[in-house]
Amino acid sequence: MKIVIAGAGIGGLTAGAALLGKGFDVTILEQAKALGEIGAGVQLSPNATRVLYRLGVGERLEGLACEPPGKRVRLWNTGQTWPLFDLGAASREVYGYPYLTVHRADLHQALVDAVRAFSADAIRLNEKVEGIVQKGGKVEVQTTSGGVYEADLLIGADGVHSRVRRALFGPDEPVYSGVMAWRGVIDIEKLPEHMRTLYGTNWVGPGAHVIHYPLRGHNLVNFVGAVERDGWQVESWSERGTIDECLADFKGWHEDVRAMISAIDVPYKWALMIREPMTRWTSGRATLLGDACHPTLPFLAQGAGMALEDGYLIARCLARYDNDLPRALGRYEALRLDRTSRIVRGAAANTTRFHNPALAHAEGAAEYVDREWSEERVKERYNWLFEYNVDTVEV
Ligand SMILES: Cc1cc2nc3c(=O)[nH]c(=O)nc-3n(C[C@H](O)[C@H](O)[C@H](O)COP(=O)(O)OP(=O)(O)OC[C@H]3O[C@@H](n4cnc5c(N)ncnc54)[C@H](O)[C@@H]3O)c2cc1C
Repeated sequence: MKIVIAGAGIGGLTAGAALLGKGFDVTILEQAKALGEIGAGVQLSPNATRVLYRLGVGERLEGLACEPPGKRVRLWNTGQTWPLFDLGAASREVYGYPYLTVHRADLHQALVDAVRAFSADAIRLNEKVEGIVQKGGKVEVQTTSGGVYEADLLIGADGVHSRVRRALFGPDEPVYSGVMAWRGVIDIEKLPEHMRTLYGTNWVGPGAHVIHYPLRGHNLVNFVGAVERDGWQVESWSERGTIDECLADFKGWHEDVRAMISAIDVPYKWALMIREPMTRWTSGRATLLGDACHPTLPFLAQGAGMALEDGYLIARCLARYDNDLPRALGRYEALRLDRTSRIVRGAAANTTRFHNPALAHAEGAAEYVDREWSEERVKERYNWLFEYNVDTVEV
């Protein structure tokens, strides 16, 4: 079976490596002219690292990824700290795989290497997918540079602004969530000693929250600050802001948070949009994966994980029913719809949890955190995510 994948991002490359490993003929079309160092930190829970290790990519990340011993919750003004959950050895013990924090560029490069180890020229750069025509039992993909690729199957892995999704199902209708996020990478040397923690931290406060965790052998810290704000709605990974603007959004917050903001290299800002989960994403010989079909708010840290799971499972479904494409795609979609919709909804629900007005004053806040982050509630919210096993799920 000849397969064209639109987009050499996290999901497209995972699908590419998994499909090449099963003997499919794969071409990946990527709009970028070069594969560069864009993006910042990505969290990979054990359901996601399982995929990487099964594809032989996990080993390539060792030394570059960090493995936090656990996560903590901190209160926006007093800095009071609670344990959230144990990771490190506990994640390996309970789920079989580590919880890693990694620079997206490192993850991306490791996946590129895995694809190229199977097929040196599978990835075609500067090929932006534009037109899609399904006829005569084939799908024809046209690119803006004039390229024409014929395949038995097109997988749209072209991210949140997916061209393939639009061609198959029409324009989407994103709604601004009311929250924008600041993103930055910090050189750990620029932080005071007491802040050079190995733990992932989730600061919670009224109308805003902050997540930070170590990256790249603990030389960097990834910072994300989400804040309820109106008047600006650009959904982009490369829009720059200023440190002063970011500091203004976290006025009155604990000095640790403000010290971190002041140390950010370049602060980027992006508007967080909500899209209702799709009810299907296959049409004839074309289907979708990753952000193209289930873009999510980042508040469960499962965006990359879902793309990894999709890529691995579409390969398993196609290998199992390789003489029956509709059945393979039907199975893939059925397997993924419930889980990904539940993640998208759960991530949206975390906005209210992390930004709750009850967090405004220390006393009420402590009670609220004790309740919302009790061991039982945390297990209920995260266990089903982390224990998902792409190898044993029935295709
Ligand atoms: C530049 C960039 C930086 C990011 N930085 C972060 C980050 O710091 N932290 C984080 O958590 N998440 C980040 N993300 C998002 C994260 O990678 C995704 O949410 C997640 O990994 C899902 O992966 P995906 O494969 O569905 O989409 P993506 O990883 O976004 O990949 C989509 C790919 O498709 C390509 N593409 C788009 N349109 C076309 C087209 N018409 N033809 C061909 N190719 C096309 C894009 O260039 C991209 O390579 C970033 C995404 C991008 C594109």
